[in-house]
Amino acid sequence: MALIVQKFGGSSVADAAKIRNVARIITDTYKRGDQVVAVLSAQGDTTDDLIEKAAEINPRASGREMDMLLSTGEQISCALCAMAIEAIGCPVVSLTGWQAGFRTDSGYGNARIKRVKTERLQEELDKNRIVIVTGFQGLNRYDDITTLGRGGSDTSAVALAAVLHADLCQIYTDVDGVYTADPRLVPDAVKLDEITYDEMLELATLGAQVLHNRSVEMAKRYNVNLEVLSSFSGHRGTKVKEVVKGMERSHISGVAKDKNIARLALTGLENTPGVAFKIFSLLAKNKVNVDIILQSIGRSESKDISFTVAKGDMDRARQLLEENREQLGFDHIDVSDSLAKVSIVGAGMINNPGVAAAMFEALYNAGINIQMISTSEIKVSVLVDADEAERAVKVIHARFYDELAEQH
Ligand code: ADP
Ligand code: ASP
Ligand code: MG
Repeated sequence: MALIVQKFGGSSVADAAKIRNVARIITDTYKRGDQVVAVLSAQGDTTDDLIEKAAEINPRASGREMDMLLSTGEQISCALCAMAIEAIGCPVVSLTGWQAGFRTDSGYGNARIKRVKTERLQEELDKNRIVIVTGFQGLNRYDDITTLGRGGSDTSAVALAAVLHADLCQIYTDVDGVYTADPRLVPDAVKLDEITYDEMLELATLGAQVLHNRSVEMAKRYNVNLEVLSSFSGHRGTKVKEVVKGMERSHISGVAKDKNIARLALTGLENTPGVAFKIFSLLAKNKVNVDIILQSIGRSESKDISFTVAKGDMDRARQLLEENREQLGFDHIDVSDSLAKVSIVGAGMINNPGVAAAMFEALYNAGINIQMISTSEIKVSVLVDADEAERAVKVIHARFYDELAEQH
């Protein structure tokens, strides 16, 4: 008998027929003799709709009340799914995140899981029940409800798989697995049979929405046996693991885009030591995460620094910088949120400068201007106009198609 954690995303539970389909997948597994803990997201666009509802009432609602509201979506889908399983005739119980023992830090809206107390879960499993758990939520030290950040149900599922020492964690979604690019955008994207935790983490962090990046980080840390697959097709999915086949794999595993990005540019900074330190320590102290940083030296005594942040942090970052303008000593601040980051990911980039050159060539041939570049051992990212992001993904994917198709 194996213990399997199965997670179903919003589109997999969007309506009654889909909930019945999920109940069938869960009960088929159970009837084969395995224990099942299922983690569900809210139905369809419920979370977006709840955010809109809140904005109608109070666009500046507190994090606590937002989380109180957002956590309700998952409760609905879990109760409905448990009812569908009752109708099939299998023993089942649905639990909220807090009933399932999720304790988090107090960061409303993007809380981190501190621990999962498994007593109740274990009790229910010992009673031979299927356990359905609401994704995306927990309780903080004030016993208030927190949510884990958009897409966070994947992380709830992996956390349960880790603490329960599950044999397998299956992430059921609306595509057949992880592809070399978003298959909805790039029809000839190739499905990967397997991908390393590191590459998947990079793809997820760079915008491939198919897995919450924190879920991949956790899966790597706890060595969770992770699989991404479709709740509709029944096809074999993608395994995410430490090591994959191929002794000396070459470079590319996929292309991703991220539109949740804004750029701030400070011009006319003094060209003296300590300027970057002052800017970025101010932002860090105020919990603004910075991604790409570019510094350029002007011809005179001044220098310019540009950097990117998540869109939601743009106004706060600008305000912080404005408030400290005198101390930081810049002439002008320019902000833009009509940009996107497009990235190519794969192991061993650093040993192969040709990859970056080929990417830039593809963009040049398509007449797409690069606004910023950032590279690491495992990725090359460029900033382009948001309007060009989809085309950029397509031309880059096409440029590497042969290599991508051959590898997978
Ligand atoms: P769920 O609701 O099941 O959590 P998400 O919408 O969060 O599903 O993630 C699945 C979506 O991720 C797919 O519908 C697909 O459009 C998108 N996606 C982006 N990049 C990739 C990729 N490289 N491989 C597979 N899907 C991707
Ligand atoms: N329902 C939440 C969201 O839409 C969590 C999730 O789906 O993973 O972000
Ligand atoms: Mg998701």
